[in-house]
Amino acid sequence: MELKTFRGGIHPPYQKEATANRATVEISLPAEVVIPMQQHVGAPDSPTVSVGDRVEAGQKIGTSEAFISAPVHASVSGTVKAIEDRPDFTGALVQSVVITPDPGQPSKWTDKRDTSNLSADQIRDIAKEAGLVGLGGAAFPTYVKLSPPEGKPIDTVIINGCECEPFLTCDHRLMLERTDDLIAGLKLMMKAVGAQRGYIGVEANKMDAADTLTAKLAGEAGIDVSILEVKYPEGAEKMLIDAITGRRVPPGKLPSEVGVLVQNVGTAVALQDAASTGKPVIDRVITVTGPGIKEPKNMLVKVGTSIEHLIEQCGGFAGTPGKVIMGGPMTGWAQKDLTAAVVKGTSGVVVFDSASVDVEEEQRCVGCDKCLDACPMFLMPNFIVKYAKVGKWEMADKFGVNDCFECGCCSYVCPSGISHIAYVRKAKAELTAAEKK
Ligand code: SF4
Ligand code: SF4
Repeated sequence: MELKTFRGGIHPPYQKEATANRATVEISLPAEVVIPMQQHVGAPDSPTVSVGDRVEAGQKIGTSEAFISAPVHASVSGTVKAIEDRPDFTGALVQSVVITPDPGQPSKWTDKRDTSNLSADQIRDIAKEAGLVGLGGAAFPTYVKLSPPEGKPIDTVIINGCECEPFLTCDHRLMLERTDDLIAGLKLMMKAVGAQRGYIGVEANKMDAADTLTAKLAGEAGIDVSILEVKYPEGAEKMLIDAITGRRVPPGKLPSEVGVLVQNVGTAVALQDAASTGKPVIDRVITVTGPGIKEPKNMLVKVGTSIEHLIEQCGGFAGTPGKVIMGGPMTGWAQKDLTAAVVKGTSGVVVFDSASVDVEEEQRCVGCDKCLDACPMFLMPNFIVKYAKVGKWEMADKFGVNDCFECGCCSYVCPSGISHIAYVRKAKAELTAAEKK
């Protein structure tokens, strides 16, 4: 079988064995949930509740009038304990609603309705009301993506089931455990944008998921499973579109430019949940794993649960913790403390023990060009770093820093241990700040 793929990329050790075959489990409630008002791309929400209020699980507690935004909901029934700034997974202080959960939580969203007769407008409204965002990590509001710009028709929807980040297995589990809902969610997305073609892209190291999906789709016209080479970052939007359809999204443009919409597995399942039961995005499946975790797991977690609680639920640390990353090891964020909360876009927590953390100092660039060969966006990461180091942000811009989607391939291959993403993030922040002035 010929596997589809893209140019560039890397082959890191995938290390998914610890959790790939572990069914998703529910965990106990934390002592508090911390719901940040900004957990999506776009304008932050403003709280619609006050300290001391009783809230019900699924109740809207933060909204914004901005077009690009997404409401947030209470992930538990309980009492609002505080509304205050708390550090999020990036370390930034973000206004958050802190809720003390009731000891017992009501059973809700168990009745399912047929979603096949919903109109495109109804599907978009459901996505908006549910606070649905890209659950693969991008956290872009889904209803905006389901509203293609005038003159840019979408003919193809691709579900990203690659999960090419090492260690993470939550999407793999969803494809196996929520197969019907995933397919139903894809059909809703196709209807919302008027697309006739649907694909579910799966890397060849998850053939059990690919086979399950293929069997379910037998006799289904217009939707296919596409098997992709196991390569990082196969699941990145532009790489996936290239690999599956052969269409190239021009630099600085969106997938709608080539008639394609890409959504993550979790987003499709959550859309179907919202459409069939009315459940907003208040929980998600994440993977907690790594050599520094005693009992790695895939778990269904309430939005707002702290990393600390997740680690406790996995039996604690194995050995001395060296590095805790929220997200995958390639694109995730290293954590200084463990109080940051799971947000809608959190796909996992990876813990390395001190023995497996490389603490080598960053060295001078030796001009080997390995980062150029690895970059799937055809950028020159060495030059972006060179200019970012001396604060020449406009030159970093000229070298395409805003086309970098922070996959980390360049750092992975760099013999000098240069952390390109840190420079890229700094340059992007400086350019955005300069634009606002
Ligand atoms: S420059 Fe950006 S897109 Fe290119 S390899 Fe590095 S992190 Fe990935
Ligand atoms: S891989 Fe590292 S050392 Fe080699 S050119 Fe790129 S930045 Fe320089």
